[in-house]
Amino acid sequence: MKAVVIGGGIGGTCAAIALKRFGIETAVYEAVKEIKPVGAAISIWPNGVKCLNYLGMKDALRELGGHMRYMAYNDYKLGQTMTRFSMDPLVQRVGEQPYPVARAELQAMLLDTYGRDSVQFGKRVTHVEESADGVTAWFDDGTSAHGDLLIAADGTHSVVRKHVLGYDTERRYAGYVNWNGLVEIDESIAPADQWTTFVGQGKRVSLMPVSGNRFYFFFDVPLPKGLEQDRSTVREDLQRYFADWAEPVQKLIAGINPETTNRVEIHDIEPFMTLVKGRIALLGDAAHSTTPDIGQGGCAAMEDAVVLANLLQTHSLGIEDALLRYQEKRAPRVKDLVLKARKRCDVTHGKEMALTEQWYHDLTEETGERILDGMCETILGGPLE
Ligand code: FAD
Repeated sequence: MKAVVIGGGIGGTCAAIALKRFGIETAVYEAVKEIKPVGAAISIWPNGVKCLNYLGMKDALRELGGHMRYMAYNDYKLGQTMTRFSMDPLVQRVGEQPYPVARAELQAMLLDTYGRDSVQFGKRVTHVEESADGVTAWFDDGTSAHGDLLIAADGTHSVVRKHVLGYDTERRYAGYVNWNGLVEIDESIAPADQWTTFVGQGKRVSLMPVSGNRFYFFFDVPLPKGLEQDRSTVREDLQRYFADWAEPVQKLIAGINPETTNRVEIHDIEPFMTLVKGRIALLGDAAHSTTPDIGQGGCAAMEDAVVLANLLQTHSLGIEDALLRYQEKRAPRVKDLVLKARKRCDVTHGKEMALTEQWYHDLTEETGERILDGMCETILGGPLE
């Protein structure tokens, strides 16, 4: 059996690694010559970590991951702690640590694990064709690739998605802009072993440790879509949006490198239940685009990869049958993740300010139990125990 994998991001490489481990021949085709991830880092929650462990990257991931032992929310203006609690109960309940990692390092680990030489870069798929004996992908350089099945992991702007669904999907602007990057750890801003988030005015500023004595930071600001982006004014823009915020936030803004700070308008796509057509399967953001508010988009792509490869390995009623089983298992799970993230997004970013104010109040009474319960539920919904 040969699988053509479109896209060499988190989803495509995880799918290729998973299939290769089961002895399925794979070829990965990636549009760009060099992958430049849209964000600086990513939090891999234990459901995603278990998938990477399963795919043989247990030790490599630990080298890259930051140690997040505590979680805290701070008031935006005074910087005072609203709630702070240990993440140990979560780790105990789900049986694995979360690992925030720098994206470039994660991408390198995935490519090295799969085999960088087995990825064909500069191959942008334009359309796909199904026939009795498989699927052909056509690229913009006029070449093509044929396989018994095709996995479309071509991201949120997927061109294969339209072929599978039979209609175009619209990306929905979630109402806020996210700036993110990496900065050296400074404990006068936040403790090195804590996920710290300053909240107020429907905005947030967050810091997570990754390896190499670095914080992954991000700033969220509710803003209209389509504002002009100018890298040279990133610091001034953030100073303006966070003018009356606490000293640690001012210090963080002063310490960032505008040249390496990313600016992303956050979108998602209304969940759909069709993930496959014949011998073609959508995977990762192509199948489910979510806001990053529960940090599960990439983890869900890892889950997709493990489930799909397992079904192809363990069932013998044919590729179409295995793909339909994949759809049956994954569609409800990823719909749930997208809608959960959307709900969190709205509360965090002041869609209805009264609800956001209530959340700020609830945080001052939070012991950690409710927050960790919600996280555990999401994590335990993953495919691996
Ligand atoms: P992508 O990473 O988009 O990869 C798709 C690949 O396909 C790309 O390399 C692209 O070049 C290639 N491609 C596109 N079109 C074609 C084509 N026509 N032909 C060939 N190749 C093509 N997730 C988490 O789990 N935890 C987090 O903390 C987290 N934080 C996030 C923060 C932000 C600000 C954002 C925006 C997202 C975050 N996510 C997080 C989500 C996560 O980044 C995505 O879910 C994940 O990258 C999806 O991987 P993918 O491989 O499906 O898509």
